[in-house]
Amino acid sequence: MRPSKGKSSNVTPGPSAASSSQVRLLAGSNETGPDGLLKDITVVDVDEPGPVKKSRADRSQDIDTFFSPSFIKDGKKYRNCTPCTKLQKRPVSFVNEATTLQWHQQATHKADYLKWAAANNFPSMLPQDTKQQRDAVTASKQPQTSLDSHLVSKPQLSIS
Ligand SMILES: [Zn+2]
Repeated sequence: MRPSKGKSSNVTPGPSAASSSQVRLLAGSNETGPDGLLKDITVVDVDEPGPVKKSRADRSQDIDTFFSPSFIKDGKKYRNCTPCTKLQKRPVSFVNEATTLQWHQQATHKADYLKWAAANNFPSMLPQDTKQQRDAVTASKQPQTSLDSHLVSKPQLSIS
C-alpha cells in the first residue's frame, strides 16, 4: 500500500485484459478516421504515467466548443449553450457540470455533437456512449480506481 505518485505501471492488471480492450478501441476507431486516432489510443494506455492530465483537458473540448465560457450567477457556475442561445435569441444557461451539459448535448444536439466529434477525432462523451465505453476501458483508463477499490475492500472485510 504505497501512496500513489503516478507510478502506476507496477500495479497494472493482467496484460490480457488491457490488450483486449485496446483491440476493441482499435477496431472501433477504424470506422471513424485516419491514423490520427492511433495517438489518442496511446494516451489511454496505462503504462504511460503522464497523459492523464492531457486527456482530462481533452475531455472538456466538446463542452468548450458547444458552450460559452463559464460565468458565475448567484454564486453558481453556469455556461450558455451556444446553439440554443442563437436559436432562441436569449441566453440559455446550464449549470457548469460536465454531466449536465453532456445530457443536454445528447437530448438536443446529438447529431451536431456526433458530427463534430467525428470531425475532430474526439471520443463521444454523450452519456449513452460513455456508458458503453466504460465497460471496455475502465481497467486501462483509470488505474487509480482499481487501487481505491483495493483499499476500500480491506476495512470492509475486517468489519464483517
Ligand atoms: Zn443547447
